[in-house]
Amino acid sequence: MNIRIGYGVDVHRLAPGIPLVVGGIEIPSDIGAVGHSDADVLLHAICDALLGAANLRDIGYHFSDTDQKFKGIDSKILLAEVMKLIEAKGYSVINIDSTIILETPKMNPHIPEMQKVIAGLLKVDEDAVSIKATTHEKVDSFGEGKAIKSYAACLIHKS
Ligand code: MG
Repeated sequence: MNIRIGYGVDVHRLAPGIPLVVGGIEIPSDIGAVGHSDADVLLHAICDALLGAANLRDIGYHFSDTDQKFKGIDSKILLAEVMKLIEAKGYSVINIDSTIILETPKMNPHIPEMQKVIAGLLKVDEDAVSIKATTHEKVDSFGEGKAIKSYAACLIHKS
């Protein structure tokens, strides 16, 4: 079995009065993430992990942030497209491990729903989608509530 590892990282600026979409769901919040798409930092990190594992460049290469076609797009669509790209190379997902870094609001209550959404898109069991959340201890831009960050690692395989 051919197993490959991938990792991805993404950052978005936070601003008041816009939706906060993380892990494919909208989280009730006074602040949201700024981006060309729906700015879903977790799905973007997962996209880059999968693309990296299959050596298929990165999310910006496939979905340019200057292309009007992707303006405001639901990142679940981008992740579904990434799955098509890795499947075209004969790969499927084994598991994902990820971390969201955000000072507030708390992500933990929303993680089971995120796992469900992501598992569906990746065509794996929910047990194969790990999502962790942490604050940035009030320091630097993340801790000051100015930005949100996510890391993701994945294994994919070709049988
Ligand atoms: Mg992004």
